[in-house]
Amino acid sequence: MKIDFTVLERQYKKYQTEYEESALRVLRSGWYILGKELSSFESQFAQINGVNNCVGVGNGLDALSLSLTALGIGKGDEVIVQANTFIASALAITVSGATPVFADVDSYYTIDSESIKAMITSKTKAIMVVHLYGQMCDMDAIMSIAKQYGLYVIEDCAQAHLATYRNKMAGTIGDIGCFSFYPTKTISAFGDAGAVITSNDELAERVRMLRNYGSHVKYVHETTGTNSRLDEIQAAMLQVSLKHAAENNKERKDIANRYLHEITNPQIILPTIRPENLHVWYVFAIRCKKRDSLVQYLVEQGIHVQIHYPIPCHLAPCYKEFDYKKGTIPVSETYANEVLSLPIFIGLTEKEVQYIINAINLF
Ligand SMILES: *Cc1c(COP(=O)(O)O)cnc(C)c1O
Repeated sequence: MKIDFTVLERQYKKYQTEYEESALRVLRSGWYILGKELSSFESQFAQINGVNNCVGVGNGLDALSLSLTALGIGKGDEVIVQANTFIASALAITVSGATPVFADVDSYYTIDSESIKAMITSKTKAIMVVHLYGQMCDMDAIMSIAKQYGLYVIEDCAQAHLATYRNKMAGTIGDIGCFSFYPTKTISAFGDAGAVITSNDELAERVRMLRNYGSHVKYVHETTGTNSRLDEIQAAMLQVSLKHAAENNKERKDIANRYLHEITNPQIILPTIRPENLHVWYVFAIRCKKRDSLVQYLVEQGIHVQIHYPIPCHLAPCYKEFDYKKGTIPVSETYANEVLSLPIFIGLTEKEVQYIINAINLF
């Protein structure tokens, strides 16, 4: 058997008619940027998250960097972020002109809240929490530190659409929640797309302005913005994806539950779920001391896995200017050597899941 890490056609085929009808509706409408498809998606996404504002943007990186800019964070400011995340979390900080300060993670793969206080300096303006793999960070502890030190909290929700912490939706606890709808994400477009959500109307307006050349009124440019708009075709695709998000999250959860119950090889460390959390299983990451031989073995069995992420951000070559040494963020560095992610996608069959489980148990 051959199993790819993700097969996006299966999700497309599942809703083919709806996707194609929606794309045609936009093509035939004659209106392609900043129109009613985007307004509909924005109000649906705001509503499902229980907030007043959603602003669609071009991608997840822009959702994060425009949020930082809208909060007034830039040159000379520091933002605390976990080291083991997709580079975009850190890039958003450097793109905005600020400096990332990398924190270690806890056993749930999210920022170690106990390490945060020691990292706060007079330059610290915000904590960027990353709800990695599909589950949320230790939010009560983080919000209380933020309150005590007067810091903003930006939530990177690119992997955690509709995840919850104590029944609160990802993106609604901090000042602003940032989403990516990249095609593999759990709510996804057929190209690049992103959004922010916030209950702060003024902040939403600033992002709305920044995404469209810094203007509210055509040709009146109040600030130096950028072009980062979520186009009408993607907004139409996203309405279909959003409509089916609950059933798709259930499908992922069913796969995750099989892995959790049926992988019994003692060499494997399975992911754990914070008791306060609803996990949405964007990534199913396991750990193994013999990770590289396990990857090799699985490839020989036809199973393609990925590593999220092989190099923690503080050791990324692009950040050598910050001069972090090996061994300084130990848990993240160990995880980078031990994690691997199993296939978990819409349309992965029961037979394929069984095949993966058997292969791992025989390793
Ligand atoms: C995907 C992702 C992003 C960036 O999203 P893009 O739409 O690719 O720009 C940011 N943060 C995390 C954690 C992600 O997984």
